Amino acid sequence: MSESKNFIEEIIDGDLASGKVSTVYTRFPPEPNGYLHIGHAKSLCINFGIKSKYNGKCNLRFDDTNPSKEDTEYVESIKSDIAWLGFSWDKLLFASDYFDVMFDCAVKLIKKGMAYVSDESAEEIKQRRGTLYEAGTESPYRGRSVEENLRLFYEMRDGVYSDGSKVLRAKIDMASPNLNMRDPVIYRVLHATHHNTGDKWCIYPMYDFAHPIEDAYEGITHSICTLEFEDHRPLYDWVVRACDFPEPLPQQIEFARLNITNTIMSKRYLKKLVDEGKVLGWDDPRMPTLSGLRRRGYPPEALRDFCERIGVSKANSEVQESYLQSCVRDNLNRTANRVMAVFDPLKVVLTNYDGREELQVENNGNAEEITYRSVPFSKELFIDRSDFALVPPPKYYRLKLDGYVRLKGAYIIHCDEAVTDDDGNVVQLNCSVVPNSKSGEDTSGIKVKGVIQWVDAETCIDVTVRKLQSLLTDVVDGVTDFNERFNEQSMQIVPAKVEQSLSTAQAEDRFQFMRVGYYVLDRYSTPDKPIFNEIVSLKDSFNGAK
Ligand code: ATP
Ligand code: MG
Repeated sequence: MSESKNFIEEIIDGDLASGKVSTVYTRFPPEPNGYLHIGHAKSLCINFGIKSKYNGKCNLRFDDTNPSKEDTEYVESIKSDIAWLGFSWDKLLFASDYFDVMFDCAVKLIKKGMAYVSDESAEEIKQRRGTLYEAGTESPYRGRSVEENLRLFYEMRDGVYSDGSKVLRAKIDMASPNLNMRDPVIYRVLHATHHNTGDKWCIYPMYDFAHPIEDAYEGITHSICTLEFEDHRPLYDWVVRACDFPEPLPQQIEFARLNITNTIMSKRYLKKLVDEGKVLGWDDPRMPTLSGLRRRGYPPEALRDFCERIGVSKANSEVQESYLQSCVRDNLNRTANRVMAVFDPLKVVLTNYDGREELQVENNGNAEEITYRSVPFSKELFIDRSDFALVPPPKYYRLKLDGYVRLKGAYIIHCDEAVTDDDGNVVQLNCSVVPNSKSGEDTSGIKVKGVIQWVDAETCIDVTVRKLQSLLTDVVDGVTDFNERFNEQSMQIVPAKVEQSLSTAQAEDRFQFMRVGYYVLDRYSTPDKPIFNEIVSLKDSFNGAK
């Protein structure tokens, strides 16, 4: 295939060609401290994409080595969001299941003289660490004997010491130009209950020690992470070597994390919005979480397409939110059925029409297979108020007094009279149907430029619509603080009248409301109170040239 490869795939190709690796094995390692967001989708697409391109494997591993913030609700949501995106993992694992392995690795390092117990406080460690320009100072406990270190480490495990009073440090190099290599802390005392291991442990491994062990233990060949970990790679390599894991050792590869304009990409802040009740929950349709985007009606295929199109890079950047929306729109343009909805109803009475008929209206002219639905038509209809003008501007192709317009899928009508109330507001239009003007069999000879949507007054359904915008407003005058940028207008609730066919819509069905935008029937909508969420507008605001 001539498809161009990203830099990660080039590394993998090299490893396969040289024989270093025979089966490619990746993992997705979320911390279960929140719901997945669109940034995680990028990482999922990379890791599971590699699995499928190379016929390899990919594990879902919960990185739950930090006992304080984790919750099983998050574990369940993460599993279902990944499945919804369309990926399936080979093994489902919990890093906390390896606490014994990690403990044994720490003991091994102590025995090899490569780790020591220190009584320093976090503050003292920080002070002695040095700077980018100055070497650090060796810990006064660095010279402890193997026997003493072993005894103290076992005592740490057995609960003899209080939180923060002792740590285990790797013995590497206090003069290393890389600060992460200056005897990093690898285990700490923390008397906390863990959601998986309960009170079994009162010491917990640090991320930089735990993660490489998890990867190596599972036989991961390519451990893909975001750019912040680049400076940690020497420590990653040191850990897997020092612990004597077998070849091929896992290789850490960093890529630039996904950032999107006006989009919150931090679980911590998203949680804050949920906790403060600023949103309906983690799956609020405005949230950039996968469950929020799902409820918003974003198709999983469109998210995968977006991740594919933006590519994988080594340089941090920010993608326009409108680009994501245009990927969603591309998908929906092909897949969503067109229906009619009226947001600001204006009654139309067809004075020369007394029957009632079921029109056959095309669902989607862009679909691979053209299908039709029944739409009832009768004497009284609603059109959108914005499609009628008493005083029309020039080149107005919608309805005006003594003018014609085509009702989508139905007839051409002529506006004979606008009925007004005492204040001069138009309250009803009296119109007549042009004979022989039915869509598809029009022999009337009348040419009209405007086609508008409508609903049948008797059979239409009243629904609630959520009009949605970004949770954050644009950065103005350099104010980037999320709290100050919270968009209070991000959700507007409005009523609408929709055609009868939507009475059989299923939760999560997506539609184009003709000439308005794309909408999804909310996951939690009920037949007696239907709620639609706005997915995206019809118009593309993405400026590719920018
Ligand atoms: P947050 O800061 O939102 O909590 P995190 O990086 O701490 O995110 P993890 O649960 O640790 O979240 O992430 C799981 C995986 O997803 C990691 O491999 C991480 O690198 C990746 N990831 C997280 N955010 C992004 C992002 N914005 N773009 C790409 N990958 C990401
Ligand atoms: Mg994290």
